[in-house]
Amino acid sequence: MQTRIEIVQGDITKIQADAIVNAANTSLLGGGGVDGAIHRAAGPELLAECRTLGGCPTGQAKITGGYRLPARYVIHTPGPIWHGGQSGEDDLLADCYRNCLALAAEHDCRTVAFPAISTGVYHFPLDRAAAIAVREIRAFLQTHAVPERVLLVCFDARTAQAYENALH
Ligand code: ADP
Repeated sequence: MQTRIEIVQGDITKIQADAIVNAANTSLLGGGGVDGAIHRAAGPELLAECRTLGGCPTGQAKITGGYRLPARYVIHTPGPIWHGGQSGEDDLLADCYRNCLALAAEHDCRTVAFPAISTGVYHFPLDRAAAIAVREIRAFLQTHAVPERVLLVCFDARTAQAYENALH
């Protein structure tokens, strides 16, 4: 079980996976951070497909092609903006992980890579987000054979350390 979850440091746009997850916003029309990086690397065709989707509510997920990315699919999920923790943030972040994994399974994605959803400009506390991510991914993998592997992609050492702590 443990070996099905891996911490990887680096840029998610370079990851060879069946699907990478985009920490999007509800418009699905691109933004800063990982969202901007994914759109830049995938090319304008990604934005064109996203325009047809009509946005996405926080905690839900929608799938598109990966275009110029090494990944076959991008799964877009708007994470919750942190408002202090009393606005359903924990449950919404858990929903993001569950709904992305369900979409990945539906599309037979054997390997899925996640960024640290909501922990950038959305300011979700990192340790709390890492614990939720690990809990939800473990629970999903316990009941599903696909995805076979989940990569937790960290842009910095601080994020990698938070995942290490959550995994062990
Ligand atoms: P959110 O709006 O959900 O908080 P951000 O993109 O601001 O999303 O940040 C989410 C996480 O993604 C942060 O840990 C940030 O450092 C990280 N990140 C930014 N660019 C990349 C990238 N190219 N690959 C992987 N992670 C990235």
